[in-house]
Amino acid sequence: MSFSNLGLSPNVVSAVEAAGFETPTPIQANAIPIAVTGRDVLGIAQTGTGKTASFVLPMLTRLERGRARARMPRTLILEPTRELAAQVAEAFELLGKNHKLTVALLIGGVSYDEQDKKLDRGADVVIATPGRLLDHRERGKLLLNGIEILVVDEADRMLDMGFIPDIERVCKMLPFTRQTLFFSATMPPEIQRLADNFLHTPERIEVSPPATAASTIVQRLKKTSDAPAAKRQALRELMQEVDVKNAIIFCNRKKDVGVVYRSLHRHKFNVGALHGDMDQRQRMATLEAFRNGEIAFLVASDVAARGLDIPNVSHIFNYDVPVHPEDYVHRIGRTGRAGREGYAAMLVTPKDYKALKAIEAMLKEEITWLDGAIAPEEVAEAEAADRGNGRGRSRRGGRRGGQRTGRSRSEAKEAPASTSEPQNAAEGETAEPKRADDRRNDGRRGKRGQGKRAEGQQSAAQDRGKCNDAPRGKTQGGKSQGKTQGRTQGMGDHVPAFMMRPVRVP
Ligand code: AMP
Repeated sequence: MSFSNLGLSPNVVSAVEAAGFETPTPIQANAIPIAVTGRDVLGIAQTGTGKTASFVLPMLTRLERGRARARMPRTLILEPTRELAAQVAEAFELLGKNHKLTVALLIGGVSYDEQDKKLDRGADVVIATPGRLLDHRERGKLLLNGIEILVVDEADRMLDMGFIPDIERVCKMLPFTRQTLFFSATMPPEIQRLADNFLHTPERIEVSPPATAASTIVQRLKKTSDAPAAKRQALRELMQEVDVKNAIIFCNRKKDVGVVYRSLHRHKFNVGALHGDMDQRQRMATLEAFRNGEIAFLVASDVAARGLDIPNVSHIFNYDVPVHPEDYVHRIGRTGRAGREGYAAMLVTPKDYKALKAIEAMLKEEITWLDGAIAPEEVAEAEAADRGNGRGRSRRGGRRGGQRTGRSRSEAKEAPASTSEPQNAAEGETAEPKRADDRRNDGRRGKRGQGKRAEGQQSAAQDRGKCNDAPRGKTQGGKSQGKTQGRTQGMGDHVPAFMMRPVRVP
């Protein structure tokens, strides 16, 4: 199978060859022939499978006919984070080098001026995060009724970030006749519903079952105590045991990203950190330094690192066991990409045992221990200690069984670090208080979401309000927003103290 058999135009095929792609990946081989004909595609694929090119290449082919008009872009790609949006823009640069297309990247954290100019000139492709896109539209800078192709990328990530109402709003603004290419790593019921509503007889293409780790990744576990110094020592041992070219070190909490980063720096590791409080420029600079090898190790939280395309990461180290099993797959998916060999090792304390078992159950395999597994009595002891501390429920954020909320789990975990920190749902959206406000005021949010998800999204919106929006922030500590008839929505009877603290108004 080669790219010239997929129905792509000669210009596109030659750009693909120049990019060094020889053989289409399975998602490309299956999605491109459908997408070039104008049919809808429902692609179930993770990052690392080549899914970006599977929508960029047919788009380029289809864009060869026709031209853009001022403020009326022809195609729209929605991405959950700024980083992902920027990566897709890079893919257009690489693969669209034979096409003179105007690509507008509409993301938060940067000025509107440049983005306005691109839109005024007539954009063939708009790549946007939902908040900034709707901002432009509300400012009258953008008309969406000329959209011929819509791409929704990482839909399950959008769900985690509470963006589904925004996606629905956008879909309703687009012409009914458009083509939709829809990608998600997993298909929870909310995403299936969205696909059912907005895709027209799509071709469903699933390239690897959700939550399956690539078979090219060697996975290992290392037992450690949960004393912070011992854990950091164990991490260093882990990093020195293997021949590491470059690695991402994942922590569950933003606070620990800083602690681990400083510790590794002290121990002379060539290290950088990626977390939600960094501004866009810093994040891009750190990522660039990591990509070009100036930095060999990157300490990151899930929120900061999800979906990043960093080729050639030789190792992943999990400083913490992720609370939700699917996060494990996303983390280790940063290595072993596009068929390369990868290595992922994780520190496990006796308290993490249950979370580890959930990961193994999801993977349907046991992961090998490097030097001895945790003994059952150590687990029992840790559980007893946990019960003694009244922490039996708190590991899963106080929600039985770790039900997912509208907010990403990592964000939810990161939130208590400081209520004055920018904790917008999309880390990528920190500079978009107006949009966050709009999202909260969208009355459909509460109605649409059903069951737990709606509740989760509502509390996510409330969380966002605490940090970004002054009037709402002021009322957050009071009873009017958070409480309904003496109960706090989404919280049961217990409201953690940090939720009730007054909020610093920016
Ligand atoms: P993605 O899943 O789109 O994030 O792509 C993961 C990585 O695979 C990116 O670095 C792409 O440049 C690379 N890639 C995509 N398609 C191919 C291909 N057909 N052959 C080789 N590398 C590819």
